[in-house]
Amino acid sequence: MDSEIITVGDELVTGHTLDTNSALIARRLTDIGFTVRYKTSVGDSLADMEEAFRLALRRTRVVIVTGGLGPTDDDITKKAIVRVFKRNLIFHEEVLEDIRARYANRGLEMPAISQNQALLPQGARIFPNKLGSAVGICIAEEGRVFVALPGVPAEAEQILDDEVVPYLRGLRSGQVLKVVKLRTTGIVETKLSAMIALGLKMEGGVKLAYLPSYSGVDLRIIAADDGDEEADRKAQALIRHLEATCGRYIYGRDNDTLESVTGQLLRDNDKTLAVAESCTGGELGMRITSVPGSSAYFLGGVVAYSNDIKTQQLRVDPQLIEEHGAVSEECADAMVTGCRSLFQSDYALSVTGIAGPDGGSDDKPVGTTYIGLASAHATYARVFTFGSHREVNRTRAVYAAIELLRREILDIK
Ligand code: AMP
Ligand code: MG
Repeated sequence: MDSEIITVGDELVTGHTLDTNSALIARRLTDIGFTVRYKTSVGDSLADMEEAFRLALRRTRVVIVTGGLGPTDDDITKKAIVRVFKRNLIFHEEVLEDIRARYANRGLEMPAISQNQALLPQGARIFPNKLGSAVGICIAEEGRVFVALPGVPAEAEQILDDEVVPYLRGLRSGQVLKVVKLRTTGIVETKLSAMIALGLKMEGGVKLAYLPSYSGVDLRIIAADDGDEEADRKAQALIRHLEATCGRYIYGRDNDTLESVTGQLLRDNDKTLAVAESCTGGELGMRITSVPGSSAYFLGGVVAYSNDIKTQQLRVDPQLIEEHGAVSEECADAMVTGCRSLFQSDYALSVTGIAGPDGGSDDKPVGTTYIGLASAHATYARVFTFGSHREVNRTRAVYAAIELLRREILDIK
């Protein structure tokens, strides 16, 4: 089934606010097997909105709109909807009661203007909003589905996930889609595809997509069939092939992240981790602690940006830096050894590299990065050669470090 996403707001068309809603909605629609054919952004103009809605309803079956559902004068999406669908706005007492209770919870009196938010197009299905006062609206007419959601990204996401996605899934008749994402890291897309191509047999209705990013390459599998079981069987057959050909690079599925999966390994093994960072400046610790509950295994880190801090905090021998440089295998080794003994952790990671744009040399070009790992059994450092872009190098170093630890724990050589 095809669909169009329309985002509403002057701030979106002027570029002052980045439209993140359409990306989120498109991902969700794709995941449940809808085809997104168009994305449109329109300013807060009644005439433009009407035209955009009419056009979208002509050319696609499902239209999802965000923005302009607030109570103030600049929010006019509902006005456009009632014009397009030729319906009246009806007052919903229960919606107003919800809003009143929301204000009361915060010890506030509901402003009179909130009345507007209880006025909804006649015959519309209402999708409750757990985070705010603008409810989602859904109108189904003549084989078309039109959904309007609030613009605030967290609210749009909540209603989308709790209400819209289950509703749309129910509409899909006929084909069943099974969508699985396998997440890989530590290997480039081209090598991955060459490995996968060996002995690959693709059944009808099965699609494999490569989705690269700086943290790795995701493999998206979509299997379509008339029945649930058959779609699942096709997806599983391809997954088995992927695991057999490149399983050592696959760290997780769907919503797994490298940091969440590796954190879970530390937790399962009752082990702790500390980090010593030079060129990543704290980004490694930030990624690791982005996982809820990471305090169970992450002890802390040292941002050892200057050589003085490397020698004073991490006990790296100044002579060693003099001889090999701060960006060297020897230094990464000494940093990680010092870090592990400072924090008394089971594992330690260190990062030292030339993030750029300056500081490169012939034998150590920009992007040269050493990542050290220390455990009770071994201490070593690996060299990576990333590219010339500073931020990208830092991000890639962070993921390479976490992946080094994952492989150490799982003993993947
Ligand atoms: P609105 O529902 O139009 O009143 O928007 C409420 C807030 O959400 C405003 O701060 C908007 O800038 C923001 N917003 C609206 N649409 C989007 C969008 N498509 N992506 C990101 N933020 C948005
Ligand atoms: Mg707006």
